[in-house]
Order: sequence, then structure tokens, then C-alpha cells
Amino acid sequence: MDRFEPNLRIPGPTGLPPSVREAGARQMINHRGPEFAAMLERILTGMKPYFGTSSDIAMISTAGTGGLEAAIVNTLSPGDRVLAVSIGAFGDRFAKIARAYGADVTKIDVEWGQAADPAVLRDALRGDVGYRAVLLTHNETSTGVMNPIPELAAVVHDLAPETLILVDSVSGLGAVPFEMDAWGVDVVVTGSQKAWMAAPGLAMIAASPRAWTAMETATMPRVYLDLRAHRESHAAGQTPWTPALAVVFQVDEGIRLMTAEGAEHVFARHEACAAAARAGLTALGFELFADPRHASRTVTATVVPDGLDWKAFNGELKRRSLILAGGQGKLTGKIFRLGHLGSVTLEEILGAMSVLEFSSILAGRDVRPGSAVAAAQVAALESFGIAAPAAAGAGA
Ligand code: PLP
Repeated sequence: MDRFEPNLRIPGPTGLPPSVREAGARQMINHRGPEFAAMLERILTGMKPYFGTSSDIAMISTAGTGGLEAAIVNTLSPGDRVLAVSIGAFGDRFAKIARAYGADVTKIDVEWGQAADPAVLRDALRGDVGYRAVLLTHNETSTGVMNPIPELAAVVHDLAPETLILVDSVSGLGAVPFEMDAWGVDVVVTGSQKAWMAAPGLAMIAASPRAWTAMETATMPRVYLDLRAHRESHAAGQTPWTPALAVVFQVDEGIRLMTAEGAEHVFARHEACAAAARAGLTALGFELFADPRHASRTVTATVVPDGLDWKAFNGELKRRSLILAGGQGKLTGKIFRLGHLGSVTLEEILGAMSVLEFSSILAGRDVRPGSAVAAAQVAALESFGIAAPAAAGAGA
């Protein structure tokens, strides 16, 4: 074991608060008993405001990808036409799952780093109301882009009101506001290892009343992921199959912490950390990968500049206990990503900036000591509506 706690700044799994870690180490309980039923009730009730729904939520023991698969197989039938709007690796995955189960998938491939443009979706839907579902990614973790879900959903409602809207918010929900009912979204998926500050192993899925109805006629094969079995079992305070109990303990504690903090403060913390990360990285001379109008509030992607030996640089970061994520798929070696979701504090982001600054200087980059930390602090203050003293951020 390392003597020092690493600053785990990947976009999930996130580090765990001490009480969440302890929760995961608890003795097992009877998952068919009243203690479990009360815990499940707390979790599902505690999550509803973050989903922005009064509809039923299912908790499945699976990775986020299993949650995406559940969204597909429960609402669709083989041969159904599906419009998959992909803005990165996870949008590609959502489309791939639909295809694997026999959906007739049309894909819109948005340039990586950009958000989906409602006008492009409008063009795709105009004159074609035959889509059974549109697949959207809320927060594309591979590129650090957050899609404008309300605007995109409004286009679907306008042109294809019968079409279901399925949203991957694995790395967004809980960290940023989401209003499933108000935006008219039909299925939303999230994962325990992201905003919920717990270990991987649980996916939570909410479905609108019409999505629950669609499940009665959808014919894609499903047993383990059948959401109807989960809903029925949840009504009795249970899960249909043995749950990942240690993770359930953790999510229960994670939600307790989030409730104590208050949703508004959770969102403000994420916003401040994201603003600090972007400002600090920019002050270090790095180019941010995402369109700034749609920069994610849970992960910041940064272009690896020409001439920087990423492997050596990352080795230096790791020696100083800063753990970042590299690029995925076609972005491997081209970007690095800094996660700021779930269990993240501003102090951890400032610490990360300090390490990035120090390591940049060691790598021979032209960086003034303190400049990234100062810029990050100014941005965080601004996000809280506080003006920094005039001298701040000047790198002096
Ligand atoms: N979708 C998004 C946006 C994600 O960020 C991830 C994981 O990073 C997934 C889906 C898949 O989740 P998992 O790795 O738990 O299967």
C-alpha cells in the first residue's frame, strides 16, 4: 500500500469518502429482510430528485454498460428503427448495443469534442417519424462534452412525439441538474461509481410511464436485465437477483452525504471544480478539447501538445500521486482527461493543478510557478459569484 493517498482524478470510479469506504466493509445482511428493504427505499427515494422524476427507478447490479443494455432491451424490438446520436466513444457503445440486439440503427456521428446540434437532429427527424427511439449521451466522458439534453429532447417532441428518448447519463446524473419529467426523457441511466461516490457495480435506471408501457410489448430478449422484474421486486423491498450488497451499502451512504450537503451545493461544487480545472489547465498553456460552450462539468479533456512526451509527463504526475485518465479509442495518446465528479473537492483540483504546474516546469514547459493554481482559484471564486482581488490570477 502507498503511504500517500493518490489524487484519483479519473472520470470514475471516483475516490470514496471515508464513511463510504467503511460502509462497503460492513457485514452482509439478509437481502430479503426489512433492513435491506428500508435501505432500497432510501436509495430510490434519495435519487428521484436527481433524476427529476416521479416515475419508478430500478437498481440493477451491473456496470453502467449493463444499464445501457437494459435501456435498449426493455423498450425495443428487433427491427425497430433507432436514431443514435453519438458524440464519442460512449455514444458509439450505446449504438452498438442497439445494433447487437437487432435494432435498425441510423447513426449521427458528431465530430468528437463537439456537442450534438439540435438543428442537425431536426434535419435527421424531419420527414421521418418512423424512429422508435433516439439515443442520446448526456455527458460524453470520452471527450468531456455535455449535450444540451433539453434542447435535443424538444426537437424530438416537436417532430417525432411518439419516439422514445433514451439517455446515457452514467457520468452526469447526480453531479449536474437533470429534469427527466420536465424535459420529457423516457429512460435515463446512471452508474454507482460516478457522481454517487461509490464503487462500481450498480446501475440505476428511471423510465417514464410510456417507457414502462413500452416494456410490455418490446420483444428484445431479456431476463437478468428485465426492468419489470426489478420494479416488481423493488415494490416488495427487494431485488430480483442477489444485489451487489457492499455497493448498495456504499450508495446508501453516498446519498446520505449528498442529501446532507444539499443538491444545490453538490451541483455548485461540481461547477466550481470544473471551472477551476479548465482555468488551471488553460493557464498551463494547454488547449481544452471540448467546445467551451458545452464543456462537461464532470470531466475536462485536454489536448496533449506537440512536443510533450505524454508517457514521461504522466509518469511524473503519477510519482506525485496525481492519477489522470488518458484518451479513449481514437483519442488515445491525443488527449488526457481530468475527472471532477462525485467525491471531489476544490482543494483536490487545486492540488492537481499544483502537481501539473510543477511537472510542467520539470518537463521544460514555460510555466510560472503558481499560475495554474491562481487561475483555478479565481475561476472557482467566480463560479461562486465572488470577485477575486485584482492582483489574483496575474500569476504574480
Ligand atoms: N456511459 C458513459 C458516459 C460512461 O462514462 C461510462 C463509463 O465511464 C459508461 C457509459 C459505461 O459504464 P461502465 O464502465 O460502468 O460499464
